[in-house]
Amino acid sequence: MNWITNYVRPRINSIFSRREMPENLWQKCDECGTMLFHRELSDNLNVCSSCGHHMHITPRDRFVALFDGGVFAEVAVPDPLPDPLHFRDQKKYPDRMKAAQKSTGEKEAMLVATGEIGRTPIVAAAQDFSFMGGSMGMYVGNAIIAAAQEAVKLKRPLILFSAAGGARMQEGILSLMQMPRTTVAVQMLKEAGLPYIVVLTHPTTGGVTASYAMLGDVHISEPNALICFAGPRVIEQTIREKLPDGFQRAEYLLDHGMLDRVTPRTELREELIGITRLLLGLPPAVRGDLPPPEPETAPDGAETPTSEPADKK
Ligand SMILES: [Zn+2]
Repeated sequence: MNWITNYVRPRINSIFSRREMPENLWQKCDECGTMLFHRELSDNLNVCSSCGHHMHITPRDRFVALFDGGVFAEVAVPDPLPDPLHFRDQKKYPDRMKAAQKSTGEKEAMLVATGEIGRTPIVAAAQDFSFMGGSMGMYVGNAIIAAAQEAVKLKRPLILFSAAGGARMQEGILSLMQMPRTTVAVQMLKEAGLPYIVVLTHPTTGGVTASYAMLGDVHISEPNALICFAGPRVIEQTIREKLPDGFQRAEYLLDHGMLDRVTPRTELREELIGITRLLLGLPPAVRGDLPPPEPETAPDGAETPTSEPADKK
């Protein structure tokens, strides 16, 4: 030990470590190339402040932004049989699952939750495109059925955010069976007279578009989202014709009567509150951010200790 190790080396290290910038503080917009600061970007719900391009948002972040005070309770989804076909392409299916779980921190490609939006109780389900392309397998089918059953049990509307590359090929025919299963789940809501609102996000394709994503009472989409069964490249190759600009994008589908609204993500919460309350026959909600719901009152109807007496001045 001498002054070099005790004094000089720490000084040199500190000079060099100061120059190391923490990673991922800035993100480049895929559309306009603007560098966006991560906190500003997340405050704006991953929408580019320069060009309005909608980037991917996780179901969890979406729910935090959607529900009053960011408070929601997850609904348990029954686990399906893992890897029923012992499928293997370049990787084994269970290995692909483990990699997706590690990179997203989620169990599967759909999150189901209950909570309130603008003081209106709802059930919500959101699909995660970053989890194996949001592919619809048996778990996603189970999640939609669990969401519909919860909505019927609690007599609440269901709001679903779709995002998928289609069916999960690793589950073969079992993934295609989720199309009739989820259609029956949506039918349960209709028979119970409960609203079912679908928010289509970029991209919603394949078997998802051919089942639960197109069965809503109201269809809203985020701007410029690709919504289709077969993609534009496949169609162009099949019919050997050039497709019009913006074909199968949200705005094109709105013009052709496939959607009811195209709404920017930052205005989506207010829009959903308005539509949900309208369909339930409730008066319009108070606009703006709302605090989380108060704890329920005691069974005898007495006020909880946290609420202030009205006459206290
Ligand atoms: Zn941009």
